[in-house]
Amino acid sequence: MIVAKFGGTSVADAGAIARLARIVGSRAADRPVVVVSALAKVTDALLALAPLVHAGDAAGLDTAIAALLDRHAATARSLPGAEGVIPAIAEDAAALRRELGAAFGRMLRPAELDAVAGRGELWSSRVVAAALEGAGLAATWVDIRPLMVTDDRYGRATPQMQALTARARECLRPLADAGRIPVTQGFIGATAEGTPTTLGRGGSDFTAALLGAALGARRVEIWTDVNGLMTADPRIVPSARTLRAASYEEAAELATFGAKVLHPATAQPLVRAGIPIVVLNSTCPDDPGTIVEPSAELERLGDSPVRSISWKRGITVVNVRAPRMLGAHGFLRAMFEVFERHEVVVDVLASGEVSVSLTVEDRSRLDAVVRDLSELGDVWIESGRAIVAVVGIGMRSTPGIAARLFRAVQPANVEVISQGASAINVTFVVREEDGPGVVRRLHQEFFGTC
Ligand code: ADP
Ligand code: ASP
Ligand code: MG
Repeated sequence: MIVAKFGGTSVADAGAIARLARIVGSRAADRPVVVVSALAKVTDALLALAPLVHAGDAAGLDTAIAALLDRHAATARSLPGAEGVIPAIAEDAAALRRELGAAFGRMLRPAELDAVAGRGELWSSRVVAAALEGAGLAATWVDIRPLMVTDDRYGRATPQMQALTARARECLRPLADAGRIPVTQGFIGATAEGTPTTLGRGGSDFTAALLGAALGARRVEIWTDVNGLMTADPRIVPSARTLRAASYEEAAELATFGAKVLHPATAQPLVRAGIPIVVLNSTCPDDPGTIVEPSAELERLGDSPVRSISWKRGITVVNVRAPRMLGAHGFLRAMFEVFERHEVVVDVLASGEVSVSLTVEDRSRLDAVVRDLSELGDVWIESGRAIVAVVGIGMRSTPGIAARLFRAVQPANVEVISQGASAINVTFVVREEDGPGVVRRLHQEFFGTC
């Protein structure tokens, strides 16, 4: 079996879905399980309903939901044989309108927000399953929620691998054995009690990987709008090149620090079984893409030991200065306990004799974190920052990288520098407005173009 995941742009409209059908048809012998995202931008549009509910804007809500329904209906109508799904989507859109109407004038609770956000995948998967049928492929729409059992951390729920493995095998294998192609949703799951959850933005890649691991798939294909994992985001560096290969570790580092092409957790479920991920372009299906696997050979990208450069904006640096820290034990533990207590994720850490700097992305609980940290020392925060990550297995064995790197970054001011224990990345913080320029200069330094 293989798992083939199609992202938002790969199901954006009827043309994209027709291409998807051709790609899936070409893989029929591999017994594919198809995972889809919502149509491009639909998750954003669904989340944008929440402020309308809060404002009690009934007319705005009607218009927005009608626009979403129209888009799905128009897409289905343009695909041979797919029109039959429109009533089911219309019925669910009406149910959504009723649910939201009942919440008028207040903020949606996290659980309610997940139930709203997940609609995009439920609708797109219906259209795709019908389109595959219309294209002569034996597709079966599968609701992933009873399989993808998660905890109740709404907005970033954690799946239970054991339940998923048992249920995916029980439900999806017989379909594949019978020559059918299951079509299911990325991004969503449900608690054991059946309350809908989501795995976090961009989570469909993670779904595909989880299913790949559960089913012991031969590979997980991630179909997207670029030719694979590239030397930098092509939106920042138009001359970025596609990598033929990368290791799980490199892919995870790049994704964690902003390479949106893969969700940061994608490689995680696949490591143990060594199942490869192949990142492919749904508009150029014959392109070989990037293979992400344990033993990715180092290819020669010029003479560069660097594989790729990523960056992530919206970062806040939290600094703690505590003269008492000098020679004291237990300080770091006390500090990390604060972050743990408030469930705030720390991305990058740099420590000196009497001060520590950490970066966080989620500002929602920052005030509470700062208050608690103030009991340990002087605390100050710097916002509007970006993390830049330079990643490559080859950096481990190449001297002089740091010197080249920091020379290239100039004149931008570098704030927090860190290197992971595996020595395959160097990360540092710059001002947000300096980020794109820094990425371009680094690309020029290590790949000769920008
Ligand atoms: P999908 O909707 O298919 O999941 P995403 O928009 O989530 O697609 O991810 C694809 C985008 O990731 C690309 O269009 C590209 O702009 C961006 N991206 C960022 N960094 C990289 C990188 N290093 N390699 C490839 N794409 C990247
Ligand atoms: N549709 C979801 C999102 O936009 C999940 C995904 O596309 O991976 O975040
Ligand atoms: Mg994505």
